[in-house]
Amino acid sequence: GLVRHFPLTKGGVFSRQIGTVRAVDGVSFTIQPGQTLGLVGESGCGKSTTILEILEMTKPQAGQILIDGQDVATLGRADLLRLRKDVQIVFQDPMAALDPRMPIGDIIAEPLTVHGVKPAARRARVAELLDLVGLDPQMADRYPHEFSGGQRQRVGIARALATNPRLVVLDEPVSALDVSIQAGVINLLEDLKEQLNLSYLFVAHDLAIVRQIADTVAVMYLGRIVEYGPVAEVFANPRHPYTQALISAAPIPDPVIERSRKRVLLEGDLPSPTEQIDGCNFRSRCPLYALLPPQKRALCESIDPLLSRVGTVETACHHVEHSALLTAGV
Ligand code: SF4
Ligand code: MG
Repeated sequence: GLVRHFPLTKGGVFSRQIGTVRAVDGVSFTIQPGQTLGLVGESGCGKSTTILEILEMTKPQAGQILIDGQDVATLGRADLLRLRKDVQIVFQDPMAALDPRMPIGDIIAEPLTVHGVKPAARRARVAELLDLVGLDPQMADRYPHEFSGGQRQRVGIARALATNPRLVVLDEPVSALDVSIQAGVINLLEDLKEQLNLSYLFVAHDLAIVRQIADTVAVMYLGRIVEYGPVAEVFANPRHPYTQALISAAPIPDPVIERSRKRVLLEGDLPSPTEQIDGCNFRSRCPLYALLPPQKRALCESIDPLLSRVGTVETACHHVEHSALLTAGV
């Protein structure tokens, strides 16, 4: 199997400089401190499994999860608790994620309570965190319903930051929010990343946001990464037919480009994840496969393509050299 790496250079609880996390089979990526990895794909593509395996640090169904070179399945409770402080999550829907019966100060302090921080220190930390996310520290005694959607997501961010994590998983953090307040939350996330030298795993289906905030992007299809590389490069020159389809389905604000560009369309639905597929698991929907002569198709039908690197981008397609066929004439 492959390995996903989170090199961690901030110091703190890890004794060594490099952290390694391994989760879903066929998934491998690296996030540097202060950097954001965008993880994109349709629902059902394996994004949620990837998140869960990273967060829970439980033994995955296949392979192992390594953090800082240690197999989490072999760690004792105390070591696991210590490692879990370093990885936190911000959920998609702030209303569903916050207990309506708890004052937001208690919600934000909950991870600290779990980790044994004393009440006076918790109160001080909550005030600091509220200030950090642009909320009035005086509001700690109020309840979630007294806040707007954007403010509630700020509470969710404050809670995620309570334990001073190094990696924050952002699971579609603005997609449940009104469009008019999305930019404010995105800007806050960007500021916090810089200020605290955080690493983000930004899970999204909105490609425009990924393009704006991520440094690298991983495109997932049926539990695999099919394309992985620097955002600017992948968006300017998508190579995998699935990435091409995702990017061409996203609206472009410029009407001239919008009218003239060639779209790469996908047929059919995502196959069931339990279905056994010979060869490339994108084949049933692949617009490039449909264009290939039979002798080239044979490879797609028999051999599962692995990621292979050209320049700075890794792509899992046997016929990536022909994929420009799909976008020719853009
Ligand atoms: Fe399409 Fe074949 Fe490439 Fe898979 S390997 S993406 S089926 S062209
Ligand atoms: Mg999901």
